[in-house]
Amino acid sequence: MADVYLIGAGPGDPGLLTVKGKHILETADIVVYDYLANDEFLSYAKPGAEIIYVGKKGGDHTLPQDKINELLVQRAKEGKSIARLKGGDPYVFGRGGEEAEELMEAGLTFEVVPGVTAGVAAPAYAGIPVTHRAHTTSVCFITGHEDPTKEKSGHNWAVYAQSESTLVFYMGVKNLPMIAENLISNGRDPKTPVALVRWGTRCTQESMVSDLENVAEEAARRGFKAPSIIVVGSVCSLHESLNWFEKRPMLGKGVVVTRAREQASGFAETLREQGACVHQFPTIKINPMEDCSEIRQALTEIDSYDWVIFTSVNGVRRFFAEVDAAGADSRIFGGRKIAAIGPATAEALVRRGLRPDFVPAKYVAEHVVSGLIERGVGEGCRILIPRAKVAREVLPEELRKAGAEVRILPVYETGLNEQGPEALEARLEAGEIDFVTFTSSSTVDNFFKLLPPEILKKYMPQVRLACIGPITAKTLESYGFSADIQPEDYTIPGLTEALINA
Ligand code: SAH
Repeated sequence: MADVYLIGAGPGDPGLLTVKGKHILETADIVVYDYLANDEFLSYAKPGAEIIYVGKKGGDHTLPQDKINELLVQRAKEGKSIARLKGGDPYVFGRGGEEAEELMEAGLTFEVVPGVTAGVAAPAYAGIPVTHRAHTTSVCFITGHEDPTKEKSGHNWAVYAQSESTLVFYMGVKNLPMIAENLISNGRDPKTPVALVRWGTRCTQESMVSDLENVAEEAARRGFKAPSIIVVGSVCSLHESLNWFEKRPMLGKGVVVTRAREQASGFAETLREQGACVHQFPTIKINPMEDCSEIRQALTEIDSYDWVIFTSVNGVRRFFAEVDAAGADSRIFGGRKIAAIGPATAEALVRRGLRPDFVPAKYVAEHVVSGLIERGVGEGCRILIPRAKVAREVLPEELRKAGAEVRILPVYETGLNEQGPEALEARLEAGEIDFVTFTSSSTVDNFFKLLPPEILKKYMPQVRLACIGPITAKTLESYGFSADIQPEDYTIPGLTEALINA
């Protein structure tokens, strides 16, 4: 094991961290990270790991490079394992070489985990392959911002200009006029295509294509800023035909997800696949029951029930946590019939080897009962419903009316996820939020406990509100808002589709 790992965090898309980089992040005592490295990776750190931000953003240095070096050396000498996460690749304009030298000098060991560099990835996500047999035989990575303390420039503009190589400039936006001028005056065709890709591979990616003689003016007019990659060369002409990423229907749209973090990953992932910028604002916290004796007791007499009805993925998870704790497995269900209120719940059961006997076509309690009655539920039928401690009573009540004997088994409690609304408010203020999604009545109630309705009102109607179904929409109305988006199918895929269409 090395003392310090210099890890490339990739260009921003969280999927572009390497498997090796992730593995090291999960085991390190200290994670030291940069401005451009994606914050999401911090969630991979082990519980209790110390997380240190040393970011650099243009000239605004949180910690100067020599202090970063010092910090790495000092902490590694304490015997702590350090994951030093750096944007893109650590050795491509990342000053990783300097950090490695310092570590060597201090007698510490290090390893490098290369990353996906922005100079390749940002163009790729903008439909530009940096090499292509029909266009170029080489690619050149160039800094657009040389070390200002250097006496003599290391650039040989004549070579860049006459090489026909694809030129990829990092940190070049401010100097774009100078770059374009130097290339033209040294003989590169003024009509050579040039592309700028800002925040490449992220949901906020933007790109533009121009040519050498116009690019500086056009970029200034469009307000193109750092961090951007500049690509010079005929490969940029492929942007139009190969631009796959920017075609995503929700690219750049800010979507707030209010459901509990434990439940949000599938929804958030699907939205991201559509290009959305997902902002998690979990309003609900899911807590196991403090006293699990009732669940344990129910497990011992599960044979006495005819049906077990699961109403949520959390219900399945918490129920099975107790099955596991009892050293049992799915066989405890024996011949019981099983129902799942929605497809996600059904899937959670299938993953545990149980195929539900009944999944209603519509996912509100009222519609479940008729389906169950059709399947023989009635007088004297014994039903167990593992679910949240507090939930709507419609399902058990209706089943009781049909003559069934219903036992509710609380397997978890939901609570308010207490957190400050500041980060969300800042995003609202910055105009980064297009949609707020509500996936249950309690997400609505809790959301307004955390962010008062008067505050949200300020951002209407630019912000649109999406509800999973009519009951959630009704709760929203009680706060003086109406649902702008509501799917016909009351499921997460239904809601996602409605958002795409909106
Ligand atoms: N080590 C990094 C580069 C660090 S230099 C890497 O290998 O990618 C910082 C410069 O990288 C920025 O000024 C910008 O030119 C470029 N850059 C980094 N991430 C970027 C992104 N997501 N989109 C566009 N440019 C990016």
